[in-house]
Amino acid sequence: MTRRFAGGRLVIASHNAGKVREIGDLLAPFGAKVISAGELGLGEPEETEETFAGNARIKAHAAARGAGLPALSDDSGLSVAALGGDPGVRTADWAETEGGRDFRVGMERVWSALGDTAANPPFAAHFTCALCLAWPDGADAVFEGEVHGTLVWPPRGERGFGYDPMFLPEGERETFGEMEPARKHAMSHRARAFAALVAGCFGG
Ligand code: IMP
Repeated sequence: MTRRFAGGRLVIASHNAGKVREIGDLLAPFGAKVISAGELGLGEPEETEETFAGNARIKAHAAARGAGLPALSDDSGLSVAALGGDPGVRTADWAETEGGRDFRVGMERVWSALGDTAANPPFAAHFTCALCLAWPDGADAVFEGEVHGTLVWPPRGERGFGYDPMFLPEGERETFGEMEPARKHAMSHRARAFAALVAGCFGG
């Protein structure tokens, strides 16, 4: 039986402002008092696993132990079929530059890697989100969601974050970068993982 969140403070085990904002929006209806690992001065553990779920567990357990509070982590990324699932768990690394993360650069790297393959458009891709809710005593629960679509070039739209401007969800005309945030929140990998988390741990 999955343990339920008993209310009160919940640490968001992320230093990514875009993610913390989206998670805050999605959890607002459940009254959790959300604080980020960054605000608490907690470090970022190394993500050494080869799966989204494995890395989500590393982050949530480190934050729960460090804060002595329940902690929720999100590990997510973009998997491109013609790249054998890359960048996958290394999606953030592909945006790394000497001056910090730059997702324009990450998107260019993905597009250029596709150019090095024999693959033709449409380029199938999906975002995955793994959420882990962990407690300081070591208990945890993991939930996953995916959204499938294709990649477009050039990137379109200024909304969202990360690789949103190059991702066109199946059946849609707007990329995640063009879409109203509420529309993205209704269909995204993160929204789907959250629905499972809420059903499993928040009693929604
Ligand atoms: P993580 O912080 O190690 O989980 O890295 C996740 C990576 O995937 C980051 O580079 C994000 O920009 C990217 N990513 C995750 N979710 C989304 C999304 O909803 N839109 C765009 N990019 C995303």
